[in-house]
Amino acid sequence: MKRIGVLTSGGDAPGMNAAVRAVVRTALHNDVPVYAIFEGYRGMVKGGNLIRPFSWGNVGGILHKGGTIIGTARCAEFRTREGRRQAARNLLAHGIDSLVVIGGDGSLTGAILFQQEWPDLLAELVADNQILLETAEAHPALSVAGLVGSIDNDVCNTDITIGADTALHRITNAVDAITDTAASHQRTFVIEVMGRKCGYLALMSGLATAADWVLIPESPPNLEEWEAKMCDVLNQGRKIGRRDSIVIVAEGAQDLHGNHISVDYVKQTLKERMDEDVRVTILGHVQRGGSPSAFDRNLGTLQGSKAVEAIMEANGKPLSVLVGLQRNKIICTDLKEALEKTWAVRKAIEEKDYKTAMDLRGPGYIEAFQTLRTLVRALPHAASPDKRHLNIGILHSGAPSPGMNTAIRAAVRLGVDRGHKMMGFQNGFRGLIEGKSRPLDWMDVNGWAPVGGAYLGTARQHIQGRDFYAIARTIEEKQLDALIIIGGLSGYQNALELFKQRNSFAAFDIPIVLIPATIDNDLPGAELCIGADTALNSIVNAVDNIKQSAVASRRVFVVEVMGNHCGYLGLMSSLASGAERVYLPEEGISLKDLQNDVNLLVDGFRQGKKLGVVLRSEKANATYTTSFISALFEEAGGDAFDVRQSILGHIQQGGNPSPFDRIYATRFAAKSIGYIEEQVGKKEPASACVGMINGRYRFTPLEDVPRQIDTHNQRPKHQWWLALRPIARILAQPNPSFRSKSTTA
Ligand code: ADP
Repeated sequence: MKRIGVLTSGGDAPGMNAAVRAVVRTALHNDVPVYAIFEGYRGMVKGGNLIRPFSWGNVGGILHKGGTIIGTARCAEFRTREGRRQAARNLLAHGIDSLVVIGGDGSLTGAILFQQEWPDLLAELVADNQILLETAEAHPALSVAGLVGSIDNDVCNTDITIGADTALHRITNAVDAITDTAASHQRTFVIEVMGRKCGYLALMSGLATAADWVLIPESPPNLEEWEAKMCDVLNQGRKIGRRDSIVIVAEGAQDLHGNHISVDYVKQTLKERMDEDVRVTILGHVQRGGSPSAFDRNLGTLQGSKAVEAIMEANGKPLSVLVGLQRNKIICTDLKEALEKTWAVRKAIEEKDYKTAMDLRGPGYIEAFQTLRTLVRALPHAASPDKRHLNIGILHSGAPSPGMNTAIRAAVRLGVDRGHKMMGFQNGFRGLIEGKSRPLDWMDVNGWAPVGGAYLGTARQHIQGRDFYAIARTIEEKQLDALIIIGGLSGYQNALELFKQRNSFAAFDIPIVLIPATIDNDLPGAELCIGADTALNSIVNAVDNIKQSAVASRRVFVVEVMGNHCGYLGLMSSLASGAERVYLPEEGISLKDLQNDVNLLVDGFRQGKKLGVVLRSEKANATYTTSFISALFEEAGGDAFDVRQSILGHIQQGGNPSPFDRIYATRFAAKSIGYIEEQVGKKEPASACVGMINGRYRFTPLEDVPRQIDTHNQRPKHQWWLALRPIARILAQPNPSFRSKSTTA
């Protein structure tokens, strides 16, 4: 019978616990016994009670915890053949021949070696009389599924590693805080972030925090005298009114010649050349710690679940895969190939072959770096006389969504840098109707990137009748060549109306680009909308707090989350917070569901459960409201538990945007300016919404949008995340066949 061992190894990373929980629960759901191997490879080499069977309840209540509950270590013995032989013997003592290894590239390198050596190690153990021949014959191959737990995002074949998003949260919070004090004193701060051989954290946090200069290992400043250039940019920034200067340096930053650029060197240079008060902050291990972000919890969960699936599919054949995320899908690739690519980037950096290093990182990384280089400029490039300069109107539409200001700032700066005039319209379409606009120049949007809400104002308004004349007049009077609309479904519908009326109003024959921004994540042409990640984190933090409030009592919480007619926030927050049940608008709620769920809860509490969380998307059912469900559970639960309801409300629309939302707001804005430049001047300029589809940037033509909307339910017809429902269900409730063993959620 197959038995799986799971271990966390090397540097810890937030989200590892979610992965362990998913491995354990997915295995148990499939009736596969699963063992936790404590303290990484050390536990495997030492054996004894460091290898223990894990039950459903052993991984309850751990999603919100940073680090790893099964411990991690660095283990010199595992680097020796003798150490690995002992490890094989210890695994076989429990009949384990499948491993899920969650660690960095070092741990995964060890895992490949161990997997390759397995048959020989077993032969040696037989020859040495340490195991029986039958034992060796019963386990001819080792299956290994590797998950990358690393805050650096430094392993290839996965777009992002478990822990990197949380590290970005820690860094952006810290840099935002430092920016406040830097601005108060007009100081310069040099901040070191982790990443010895990978600039991901520095680059993305630079984009997210609107840093003024960023140094990464893969792409050193391409000037001999880069110090002069850096000081010049920071000086110019001061002159035009920037009160703070922030320089982000990756731990492994280097110059063209391969010399390390330390934060102290940067500080010294700035002090000498700029006569500035310069401070250094090394963020260090705070970047690793703390509760994992919603994204990392779900990444760990989905990858953990996939790892067990891969092992079961291998069915005893040798297996060595990396479970990664590529283009928004969890997929398995060859582990060795992934590590070889990873080493190739490192080698290129060591050999100062920076072009190869950047090429291997991929086009997304290169593009993000180019965008960053424009955004850090103190001033835009001088306008080129032989280029057509456009008047671009920009506005919001719909409910506020964190990241709206970030998108405006990026669009304005990137547009102005290319010589265009950007015009912001107040309060969404109302501004367009009333012609209320203001020019937005480079410094007008200074400091907007990290701030939630919408400085330009936003409103949910459907245009009709005379509005069209008014808008046409505004477009003509302001001589607008294009429009960028950042917002939700009402903006999409209004844009469609303008698009449809192009034959009646010549003014509407301009490119319109829609940037998806709504916490509801309910827009066609975009797998993820700006704001949804921030809202998800707000919900998950709130649910963590709610759970903590119930330490001593037997209690069920019914928590209502936003999302309009779309269950994205409901499902993803249930996955990330470990809720027992989620009610989604896509599925509705029946009386039978409620009866079943209350019975399951009563059963669970009778067997020792202390806490239950049920999430309800706001429009899951018009009759079975949150209050109704709470009252029903209270009554039907009898003395098994009591019930509290919590309607999270507008905290979900507020707050400063998460790093993910800031980065995507910036990148969507960059794409939109490019699209407009491409379309203007064409005989029939197209209009489109930008978004990621299958993990790639795409422009969906406006005429294709109606076909993709389920108009009755006001959401896209295809919603990729619905496919994650089975995993959420499996991990939330134990399989009835072993429910008797379960203790907690
Ligand atoms: P990370 O997994 O975070 O990159 P390390 O590089 O320190 O961290 O690796 C963690 C552990 O993995 C090491 O202490 C060692 O036990 C094992 N390991 C790393 N590299 C190898 C290797 N080449 N051969 C065998 N084991 C290795």
